[in-house]
Amino acid sequence: MSFFESHDSAFDRFVLGNAPVKRLATGFDWVEGPVWFGDHGCLLFSDIPNNVIHRWSQQDGISTFRADSNFSNGHTRDLQGRLVSCEHGARRVTRTEPDGSITVIADNYGGKRLNSPNDVVVKSDGTIWFSDPHYGIMTDYEGFRAVSETPLVVYRADPGTGALDVMVDDMNAPNGLAFSPDESLLYVADTGRMFEGDPTHIRVYDVTPEGCANGRLFHDIVPGMADGFRVDSDGNVWSSAADGVHCIAPDGRLLGKILVPELVSNVCFGGRSKQELYITATTSIYKVTLVRNGVQWP
Ligand code: MG
Repeated sequence: MSFFESHDSAFDRFVLGNAPVKRLATGFDWVEGPVWFGDHGCLLFSDIPNNVIHRWSQQDGISTFRADSNFSNGHTRDLQGRLVSCEHGARRVTRTEPDGSITVIADNYGGKRLNSPNDVVVKSDGTIWFSDPHYGIMTDYEGFRAVSETPLVVYRADPGTGALDVMVDDMNAPNGLAFSPDESLLYVADTGRMFEGDPTHIRVYDVTPEGCANGRLFHDIVPGMADGFRVDSDGNVWSSAADGVHCIAPDGRLLGKILVPELVSNVCFGGRSKQELYITATTSIYKVTLVRNGVQWP
């Protein structure tokens, strides 16, 4: 069997014929938020319903990084390499300092509680961009059921003051997000309210000093939806889908798929040259080595 499905000859040069899509660990309930720590040779990821952040390394396998994670979902690292986390349960975005203490970056907008921060990226100027849909407060499965107090938008947080600016406010429900390599574009997934006919697409925005402008359709994911994605150094978008990971060219064309036997939620690049793609998919995490290199801090 092949681990890949090519839709364009360019994709054949992105993958290796002899590199497997390897399941690294399984037995979780719903995993998301992979983030690579090259300086520690490990991956962190969330098992949201079980309220835990796990650590995986080639040497040690799986261990618990943080029990009682406030139902953490997405993670990234800031310019200093510190872990930045979205917490459904506490409805906030936090930073883990080198001594292990936790700093709250943002937990409200205009005095009203955030919904349930979902996914997060850091721009090269240090600002923290995150989506705030309602998925973590819809039920008690991935957090605590509650009534939404604020619109479902994408925020930019000042890492020093925590001041929030709304950057994207025309979505049904924003989810995954990532910048293009030169940060002139912001990609944001809209995964809607999980009703029939809701969006399953990625939109793209021009990033200007004043904010995000000219929002337009980038790519509609079929089958499934674009929960999370990351961008390689040539600007290709590697997005979650129901049948694996889809590779989408900067012009929006589907180039090919990495076939994964479970519904994929998020991905991140890792490894010594960021040439490995780590995939969180329902109950398992997977890894595949590519002939691509990710754009990702640090
Ligand atoms: Mg997500």
